[in-house]
Amino acid sequence: MTSTDATTDQLTFCDPVHRFPAIRPPVQDQPEPGLDAELIPASDRGEHTYRGTGRLEGRHALITGADSGIGAAVAIAFAREGADVAMSYLPAEEEDAQHIAGVIREAGRRAILIPVDLADPAARTQLVARAVEELGALDALVNNAGKQIAVERFEDLSDEQWLETYDVNITAMARIVRDALPHLAPGSTIVNTTSIQAYSPSPHLVDYASTKAAINNFTKGLAQQLAPRGIRVNAVAPGPIWTPLQVSDGQPKEALPEFGTSTPLGRAGQPTELAPAYVFLTSAESSYVVGATIAVTGGSPTP
Ligand code: NAD
Ligand code: MG
Repeated sequence: MTSTDATTDQLTFCDPVHRFPAIRPPVQDQPEPGLDAELIPASDRGEHTYRGTGRLEGRHALITGADSGIGAAVAIAFAREGADVAMSYLPAEEEDAQHIAGVIREAGRRAILIPVDLADPAARTQLVARAVEELGALDALVNNAGKQIAVERFEDLSDEQWLETYDVNITAMARIVRDALPHLAPGSTIVNTTSIQAYSPSPHLVDYASTKAAINNFTKGLAQQLAPRGIRVNAVAPGPIWTPLQVSDGQPKEALPEFGTSTPLGRAGQPTELAPAYVFLTSAESSYVVGATIAVTGGSPTP
């Protein structure tokens, strides 16, 4: 999907209600983790709609879950803003990852592909090491990978799902930060993806939503610890964004056609609409922004 006029980009003055169509996705199902390549309708990750302005010139970024959805939009934006990008994703997402790597390379930046299951502790330890080795440095970390499986009845939420959701969403995040810290010089940034679910949990997302609340709290505590070292930690809280997460059991199937329509803007967000918040928090222009969570929710209120 692209915006109605292909000559527009994220800096073009527009009515946010109509910047993207209000989609009515058909009921559909993909096995976890889901592919952007098979999402109906396709999402906008900024291939034709994000214009770089030199805000991350010469930076070295590691973005988890950069193959699809929000992470892919952030990867495209970072590359167009001048950063080289290491992308982590699951091996099953190679098709999406190759597409985004191509867009990064078209922007004249390096794309490093690192397929790794963050639920596998042994494999996970290789992630930061490989990113640093291949990028030559690391000064921007975006912890964006996440697992979301809707379960209607709490009795049906298995111990296995509970532990894996916590492992991927918050425990892996903490371990990646620990691995990254020896490499992060003053000026470096960490941006974590939390969610509107941190404040307004859906009844069928009890495990997921509570990890997102933990990510907010983790962000604010860690930010205070790392600020004196010149490392800024912040978060972004998306509202309903049209991504493969939603069609791989992230939502009850029957809820998909209405996805995002209850926001004040009346439509789901597109992944590229998240990218400017991550760019801002990673760029030096946000030098006094520490421990903040930027809400990108289409108007749904957050504290
Ligand atoms: P997405 O499916 O495109 O991205 C999630 C990514 O997480 C996957 O591409 C995958 O690479 C990664 N991932 C999942 N399990 C993994 C594992 N075991 N090991 C390694 N990587 C793994 O969906 P998205 O919506 O762009 O999600 C990105 C982030 O945004 C997630 O943290 C999600 O919780 C958050 N978020 C999404 C929404 C939304 O409405 N889409 C709203 C709020 C927050
Ligand atoms: Mg994906």
